[in-house]
Amino acid sequence: MKRMILMTVLLLAGMMLIIPLVIVDTERTAVKEDTGNIRVYLHEEDRIEEMTMDDYLIGTLAAEMPAAFEEEALKAQAVAVRTYTAQQMERYGGKGYKGADISTDYRVHQAYIGEAKQREKWGDKYDAYREKLRHAVRATAGEVATYDGKLIRALYHSSCGGRTASSQEVWDKALAYLVSVPCKWDADAPRYREEQRVTFADIAANLGEDATVMTASADGSDIVQVVNRTESGRADLVRIGGQNYAGYDVRAKLALRSANFTARADKDGIVFTTVGYGHGVGLCQYGANGMAKAGHSYRDILTHYYQGITVQPIEQIKRI
Ligand SMILES: [Zn+2]
Repeated sequence: MKRMILMTVLLLAGMMLIIPLVIVDTERTAVKEDTGNIRVYLHEEDRIEEMTMDDYLIGTLAAEMPAAFEEEALKAQAVAVRTYTAQQMERYGGKGYKGADISTDYRVHQAYIGEAKQREKWGDKYDAYREKLRHAVRATAGEVATYDGKLIRALYHSSCGGRTASSQEVWDKALAYLVSVPCKWDADAPRYREEQRVTFADIAANLGEDATVMTASADGSDIVQVVNRTESGRADLVRIGGQNYAGYDVRAKLALRSANFTARADKDGIVFTTVGYGHGVGLCQYGANGMAKAGHSYRDILTHYYQGITVQPIEQIKRI
């Protein structure tokens, strides 16, 4: 009996030694692809920095999604970011940027912040958040989203306002996985519904309307009208003064938070009430967080916002 106890103790001790080694080893094998380096164009400094894929993905997550979000939402974002990144890289058939693989300018590709800015942003939560994001990257190591065996355009935005937009309605380019889907999980996003007032002078400056005409005829009613809406309910055609504008142009030129808006005029200008934030195509970040809170996995999240996709190892993607 004593011998059996001794054997059991020895066996348990042995397992305690072996198990961490196995886990570490599995993790190391799994992250093989993510440890490859990436050349990042730091647009603010106008220089290229080569860094590990892990560091780049963590820095992009840090810039693009609140670190306080649920782990499954961060994992979904990690896969989206890795997929988007791979698509820009020459080794996966992308064009790269200024001799680098990708730019940190969100207007070109996606935002990124390095360690100094992460420390500034997170303060005394730095260690915890850094570890949390590192885990989201490692837990999904090497995973990308594909459709028909090809990397998808993994677009994402802050909050869709109840329904995502299709790529067709925003960019007039139909992609089977970027269709409009319902989203009931993002209503607690900050500034979800917001009033934005734009003066007639600003409308004149940005849309080329005649401010005097608008001001003179400003009895409210017919200065602005959303003539029709897209399938997801966003403003498609908007009539302002005597001119017609595409809803997405109005959003872009007047810097509205989304094209999901209603509008009314008063004597000083137009008051837009927007719902959600961003272009609305693809993964809805606040929706992802809501889905995670409701118990959905990162794969559930990805396959909801990107319909019909497969999550698979990047090694399986054909390199050019
Ligand atoms: Zn949403």
